[in-house]
Amino acid sequence: MRLDKFLAHTGFGTRREVKMLIKSKAIQVNGVTVKDSSMHVNEHDDRVSVYGEVVEYKQFVYLMLNKPAGVVSATEDTRDKTVIDLLDDDVRHFEPYPVGRLDKDTVGLLLLTNDGALTHRLLSPNKDVPKVYFAKVQGIVNESDVEAFKNGITLDDGYHTKPGILHILTSGPISEIELTITEGKFHQVKRMFEGVGKKVVYLKRLSMGTLKLDHSLAEGAYRELTGEELEQLQ
Ligand code: URA
Repeated sequence: MRLDKFLAHTGFGTRREVKMLIKSKAIQVNGVTVKDSSMHVNEHDDRVSVYGEVVEYKQFVYLMLNKPAGVVSATEDTRDKTVIDLLDDDVRHFEPYPVGRLDKDTVGLLLLTNDGALTHRLLSPNKDVPKVYFAKVQGIVNESDVEAFKNGITLDDGYHTKPGILHILTSGPISEIELTITEGKFHQVKRMFEGVGKKVVYLKRLSMGTLKLDHSLAEGAYRELTGEELEQLQ
């Protein structure tokens, strides 16, 4: 691959910034100072260094975003701000995309990556990856709802969902619940509650598989997954 792309992927900035580094003779490939940013390198075999420090090639990026309300889970949108707009250039170079979708008004855990194999494993319908949501629901959620969710809910389009595990945290005019589901149908949580005659007024995803939302992340903030988080998710 081109040297400037290689360096952009390893966090050394844009192509223009890489050009500057080359101009200042900061970059060596296999011990030879580079003069041309269009040079090609083999990311596995060539030894690239910047100011004498060897650069480890990184192909993938894995980001945990605490998605805020008001942005869409897409890479591009003509009207709305997307989750990609929340990212800095140093990670955008990897061209990450959201793993699954959260509605525009849903907040919480969203994984962004450019790793297609991991995406496939997490989204594959037969893998039954559990997703845990916290929700505020208009109306009193009761034990008969818990039972109904356990048996799966028939949605408005006739689809009968897999079982959901519903925990009531508080029950009142606005009830608070935690729900675990293993599917990701369009608006699934909202539509499951509609199936029992109730309306979700706030929805936050807390986890996806082994990955748990880091509560120290403010809404709109993100960080790379730790090695441990990534290992557990694989
Ligand atoms: N279920 C929903 O209804 N909305 C989401 O954003 C995620 C799950």
